[in-house]
Amino acid sequence: FAPWDDPSKKPLIRFDCVTKRFGDFVAIDDLSLDIFEQEFFALLGPSGCGKTTMMRMLAGFEAPTEGKIELAGQDIAPVPPNKRAVNMMFQSYALFPHLSVYENIAFGLRRGDMPKNDIDDRVGEMLKLTRLEKFARRKPHQISGGQRQRVALARSLAKAPKLLLLDEPLGALDAKLRQATQFELMDIQEKTGTTFVIVTHDQEEAMTVASRVAVMDEGRVIQVATPERIYEAPNSVYVADFIGDVNIIKGTAKPSGSDRYEILHTDGQPPFSAVSETSFSEGQTCHLAIRPEKVSISADRTADADNAVQGKVLDIAYLGNLSTYYVELPGGQVIKAQTANTRRVSRRGFTWEDSVWLSWTATAGVLLAE
Ligand code: ATP
Repeated sequence: FAPWDDPSKKPLIRFDCVTKRFGDFVAIDDLSLDIFEQEFFALLGPSGCGKTTMMRMLAGFEAPTEGKIELAGQDIAPVPPNKRAVNMMFQSYALFPHLSVYENIAFGLRRGDMPKNDIDDRVGEMLKLTRLEKFARRKPHQISGGQRQRVALARSLAKAPKLLLLDEPLGALDAKLRQATQFELMDIQEKTGTTFVIVTHDQEEAMTVASRVAVMDEGRVIQVATPERIYEAPNSVYVADFIGDVNIIKGTAKPSGSDRYEILHTDGQPPFSAVSETSFSEGQTCHLAIRPEKVSISADRTADADNAVQGKVLDIAYLGNLSTYYVELPGGQVIKAQTANTRRVSRRGFTWEDSVWLSWTATAGVLLAE
C-alpha cells in the first residue's frame, strides 16, 4: 500500500482549502493537498501557476490568506520559519564563499546548542552522504558546480528537517550532470527518509525523481498521481497535453457496451473504438487522448486492430532513437505516430506523401471530458 492509498495514514503536510491572494490577484485558489512522510513530491506547472508560493507558505515566508497548512497534524501558521522542521534549498545555493565546505555544512548546527562533538559527527555524516569527504577543507570557489549543489544539500539536511523544499535545485547544472544528480538526490532522499518537495520546470525531471507529481494550473492542483498515472491516465486534456506528447481527437461518445465507446466524428469518418474508466453519456463531447508511441504506423492495414485509419505522411521528425510521423487523415486531422528506430530507419521508414495505415487498440487512449 502506498501511503496515499492507505486511509489510516496521516499526511505529513496538509493544505486544507488554502487560498493566497496578493491584493486582488488569486495566486493559490482554494487548494487542498496531502503529502506523506518519505515522499519525493514534485510540483509541476507553467510559470506563474503558484509553485513557488506553495513552497514559500510551507517555509513560512508567506501566510495563507484563507485556509490552513498542517505539518504533522499541527497548524503551522503560528510557527515562525526558523522554528519549523522545514528547510529550503535555493537554486543559488547561497553558500558562504569565505567558509570551507565543512563550515558551510556546520553553520546551521553551530547556531543551535548542539555540543561540538555532535556537530563534528553530524557534519561527517553529511559529508559521507553527499560524497564530499575529500572536499571538506575547500572553499566553494574551489569545487565544481555539482559539488556546490551537494554542499547546499548537505547543509539543508544537517539539521534533519522533516521536510526539505527544493526550488529548481538542479537548474544551474548542465544536462548530463543534471541527470546524474537526479539519481543522487533520489538516493539521498531514500537514505535519509526526509520528505522532499521539489519545484521544477522540467517535466522529465519531475517524472524521474518523484513518487507523486501535482500538476498545477492557475493556483489549482489539476491532478495528483504517480508519474505513471499522470502519463498513462491523465484526468484532463490539460494534464495530457502538459506532460509529454499527445494526440487529442475530439468527438462525441456513443456507449457500446460495458466500458466501451464509439467515438463519432463530425467529419463523417468511421468511428473510433475506445475503452474508458469514466462514463460518458450518449452524445457527450469527448476527447480521446493517445500518446504517439501507442499509434502504430504500417504500409498495410493491420488485420485485427481495434482502430485502423488511412492517411498521408505530412512531416517526419527524426530524433535518432525515435521517429515521429505526422499523418494527415482524410478529415484533415493530423495524428502523430512514434516509432522506435531499433533498426536502420532507411529500411523501415516512410517518406513524405506516403499513404500509410495508423492503428491502435481500444485501450491505448484515455477518454476525457474537457
Ligand atoms: P515560476 O515557475 O515562474 O517560478 P511559479 O509557479 O513559481 O512560477 P509563483 O512565483 O508562485 O509562480 O507566482 C504565482 C503568481 O503569483 C504569479 O502570477 C506571480 O506574479 C504572483 N505573485 C507571487 N508573489 C507575489 C507578490 N509578492 N505580490 C504579487 N504577486 C505575486
